[in-house]
Amino acid sequence: MKAHDGMYIDGAWRPAAGGELIDVVNPADGQVIASVPAGTEGDVDAAVRAARAALPGWAATPPAERAALVGALRDVLVARQDELADTITAELGAPLAFAKAVHVGGAAAVTSSFVELAASYSFEERIGNSTVLLEPVGVVAAITPWNYPLYQIVAKVAPALAAGCTLVLKPAEDTPLTAQLFAEAVHEAGVPAGVFNLVTGTGPVAGQALAAHEGVDLVSFTGSTAVGRKIGATAGAAVKRVALELGGKSANVVLPGADLAKAVATGVGHVMANTGQRCNALTRMLVHRDQYEEAVSLAAAAVEKYPSGDPREEGTRLGPVVNAQQHERVLGYIARGIEEGARLVAGGPEAPHAQGYFVAPTVFADVTPEMAIAQEEIFGPVLSILPYEDEEEALRIANGTVYGLGGAVWAADEETAVAFARRMVTGQVDINGGRYNVLAPFGGHKQSGVGRELGSHGLAEYLQTKSLQF
Ligand code: NAP
Ligand code: MG
Repeated sequence: MKAHDGMYIDGAWRPAAGGELIDVVNPADGQVIASVPAGTEGDVDAAVRAARAALPGWAATPPAERAALVGALRDVLVARQDELADTITAELGAPLAFAKAVHVGGAAAVTSSFVELAASYSFEERIGNSTVLLEPVGVVAAITPWNYPLYQIVAKVAPALAAGCTLVLKPAEDTPLTAQLFAEAVHEAGVPAGVFNLVTGTGPVAGQALAAHEGVDLVSFTGSTAVGRKIGATAGAAVKRVALELGGKSANVVLPGADLAKAVATGVGHVMANTGQRCNALTRMLVHRDQYEEAVSLAAAAVEKYPSGDPREEGTRLGPVVNAQQHERVLGYIARGIEEGARLVAGGPEAPHAQGYFVAPTVFADVTPEMAIAQEEIFGPVLSILPYEDEEEALRIANGTVYGLGGAVWAADEETAVAFARRMVTGQVDINGGRYNVLAPFGGHKQSGVGRELGSHGLAEYLQTKSLQF
């Protein structure tokens, strides 16, 4: 894979300040495929200065012109979809068809949604004798994870550009090649120099320097709750805006009377997609005692539809997890589930392939709410099925973690499902298999985060108000 040996700053690829490199590894076989520069404080400082210098011009660019440039960016992403999908498969391990349809297709859809929003959003509001101006918040530090390397970047960059903000992106160290391709796309789209800047590097060095930089007005972070807590504290101390998209442990609640087969098949698919590396994955399935064993057998059968293997081969539906550390972590949780007395009904700790960071699609039954596999985010292809006696117990279990990001309810009718969903402490709930909506606000309650992404709520994160009285 080809990689840039510099940083994209002020409209050009510039030599990195330091000499250190980060190796990029293909998780399907453990081989190094490229290396990129590890950014230092010097690179971050140059990038923030470029973003600051470009801010007045970009903020003053009419929204329709900004929208047109976001549209041009979308067109480049679509034109280069094969190259993007290839790169995502190589550095993340996502099956190629999934990389193209979901990783790149999803990113293009999000970009498109902000083309329309930027053109139609009202950046001015009249309240009594005041005119309220919705102005760009300023320079944005975007810090993104590896699980959806392109989508997570786009979910921050597209609304920030639409709002009139300038940015510095620090992508995950595991997936920097996708970020470099994205920077090429921004350049090709004709976004003015300095509006978007890329610094590759590690979290503790480049990420930390960026989050703490005094030239940054908003830190928008997606990743683990542990790092999010630190970033929130740093931003708080500097009185900077912050948006945090963190972990999850979402509940899939199957109420009596629901279409059990459909609920289980959809639920299993939701957990296995992207090898379970999704913050909103429905990793806890809650089923009534009377239907419990039937649901367990259905789930054990359903995972057979997710053969793992080489992500480049057609027919592979489950790629490896992203790296050796995540591999160890996920296998550690599987071992812990067994130790704590859960019943393994599919998959388990054995490696399905001789090489690469593969984990067998795994299902645990007889999981109790206090077990680690029912409380902690695993970020792998592991489903826990918990029994409940009545709706009140189901609600207690569903709400009984520190997280509140996603969720699902299945019931005989929508009214019953919605009544239950209203009592769930979480940011999103899919009703009877409701589909993803690119315009719906996405974000967490409790320790799943602060702020919202996507749609008009996502755009509002990048705006601040100024009131003029007449
Ligand atoms: P992470 O460490 O929180 O990484 C997210 C981003 O923050 C990366 O770009 C990372 O850089 C950077 N970062 C790390 N430490 C930092 C610091 N002190 N200051 C500023 N930035 C910093 O998450 P991860 O290592 O990728 O994954 C670990 C766990 O996070 C997963 O198992 C999962 O539970 C959770 N996760 C959640 C989401 C989500 O969408 N909510 C996505 C991915 C992961 P590096 O790449 O160099 O670490
Ligand atoms: Mg990390």
